[in-house]
Amino acid sequence: MTAKVLEVQNLKKYFPVKTNLFGRGTEFVKAVDGVDFHINSGEILGLVGESGSGKTTTGRTIIRLLDPTEGEIIFDGQDITNIRKKDLRKTYEQMQLVFQDPFASLNPRKKVGNAIEEVLYVHGMKDRAQRRERVFELFDMVGLRGEEDKYPHEFSGGQRQRVVIARALAVDPKLIICDEPVSALDVSIQAQIINLLMSLKNRLGLSYLFISHDLRVVKYMSDRVAVMYLGKIVEIAPAEELFKNPAHPYSKALLSVVSGAGSGRKKKKIILEGEVPSPVDPPSGCRFRTRCKYATELCSEIEPQTKCLGDEHYVSCHLY
Ligand code: SF4
Repeated sequence: MTAKVLEVQNLKKYFPVKTNLFGRGTEFVKAVDGVDFHINSGEILGLVGESGSGKTTTGRTIIRLLDPTEGEIIFDGQDITNIRKKDLRKTYEQMQLVFQDPFASLNPRKKVGNAIEEVLYVHGMKDRAQRRERVFELFDMVGLRGEEDKYPHEFSGGQRQRVVIARALAVDPKLIICDEPVSALDVSIQAQIINLLMSLKNRLGLSYLFISHDLRVVKYMSDRVAVMYLGKIVEIAPAEELFKNPAHPYSKALLSVVSGAGSGRKKKKIILEGEVPSPVDPPSGCRFRTRCKYATELCSEIEPQTKCLGDEHYVSCHLY
């Protein structure tokens, strides 16, 4: 059996939007509202959904940039849900985050090589020569050999993302949370970064949680894909199976824009009617019911359970 590098159970992240006299939240944005999934060692799990579905909040809560409201985060066999922020250093040696905007995550006044040396120092590499050696090795790995002594503004967008990837790799992580890592880049550069991420994954045995709204990229990269809608995962399946046979009405609509999705001979684009409801007051029962053409009374009364359709394909919908 493949070892799980990450397991998330009933994860919730609520943000208060109204508080009472005592500062206690009385109304909440339920950005993530009870998600369960796991990532196997060496696996890429894609996480897709419209903007506002809770993908980014899920990633940031897992890496504890945000404190979870409820649930469990088991990383590499250890429960990190309630570890205090100051004690997370060990976790960050194993789990890293690559953001969408590499410029924002680099210090403009620091040479990039020095910035990575600092990371190594904080994580216990006290010998300067050893740190320098590791920086050379990392820059070589991401295709930026000899560029260590430049400032962030001296790089192109794609090169800056390579620097950020080098920094993420500095501490030998097991899992990297990639949050829209290529969406700020030109299309021609996107392919280079995607290929770099794939080759590093194979070479170093990494696992990724790959968050993206770009379904083509997710299809290309992922082993399995989870579909999120309004704070919940509505379907999760091996990538090939999901893009060929999406089961949930929301997945069908979302994936219909990608050629090759759906098993019908004619691939018709499904246009979703209506707006995404407010995560402050989501619909009762199935959250997708206000936009679903198959909705019945049952859908408004009872939240659908997650059912297995076989071969690691799970869906939450009363149609199954
Ligand atoms: Fe549509 Fe009902 Fe299924 Fe929800 S549970 S997706 S409303 S059919």
